Amino acid sequence: MEQFNLKGKVALVTGGNGGIGLAYATGLVKAGAKVAIWGRNMEKNKDAIQSLKDLGSEVAAFVCDLTDINQVDSSFEATMKEFGQVDICFANAGGGGPKGMLHKTSDEDWNGILNLNLNSVVYTYRKVIAQLIERKAPGKLIVTSSIAGLIGMGYASGYSTTKAAVLGLTRALAVELGRNNIQVNAILPGYIETELSINTPPSFKEAVLRRSCSGTFGTLDQMEGVAVFLASSASDFMTGQSIILDGGHTIHPG
Ligand code: NDP
Repeated sequence: MEQFNLKGKVALVTGGNGGIGLAYATGLVKAGAKVAIWGRNMEKNKDAIQSLKDLGSEVAAFVCDLTDINQVDSSFEATMKEFGQVDICFANAGGGGPKGMLHKTSDEDWNGILNLNLNSVVYTYRKVIAQLIERKAPGKLIVTSSIAGLIGMGYASGYSTTKAAVLGLTRALAVELGRNNIQVNAILPGYIETELSINTPPSFKEAVLRRSCSGTFGTLDQMEGVAVFLASSASDFMTGQSIILDGGHTIHPG
């Protein structure tokens, strides 16, 4: 399937040192892409690079706190120095944000989740877009949203808000960049067991399983194929869209 071949392409995956980001990176490497991952934790970066190198591709990791625009700028510069181009960008890094009722949420916590789940995507996309347009190169921008951007996730309004906001960004950029042959899409996972979700209360996990048509959680290997599809020319006529991978959670009658 030549359409899925990513040979000659360079992909950037933020939060690529673990969880869903590492699953994306694994799929991309298997499809032949060179991959740069960004994350804060140097040890996790090192381990992820080792596992990706074992698959036999050119990969590199950069330490970056995505909430700091200066670090995003310098990591992008370092990535360009290493690979010379970025054709595909997965804006995936993110976190859960404040839990509890909105009126009890501090400004600091609220701004923190906006910075991590929304502003970091903008900081990263701006660098990638400018470089794609300058190179007159086709491109793929993919953000990890969540089904929390569709359903009302009470007591996690910051998370729900930011995951919905990136869907608006996806649609706006799809229009803005279509004539530049840059496609912009979003992936909305349901519950996948990762460092982020592992401490979810058992009652919430049970509710998720009740709504899952298959009666199971999603697994990381199930994230690889969709990443390759959205990164490759197989998805060239698809833009501004949201792909939901949730085992049917959002269509379940309850
Ligand atoms: P993980 O906690 O396993 O991964 C989060 C990643 O983001 C890590 O690589 C982490 O690296 C990185 N990261 C976090 N904060 C920063 C920061 N400030 N700067 C740079 N990197 C950062 O969680 P998931 O894999 O589950 O989450 C990935 C994405 O998927 C998130 O956007 C999440 O909202 C989304 N998602 C997850 C779901 C799930 O069920 N797991 C469901 C729906 C969406 P490091 O620790 O080195 O900083």
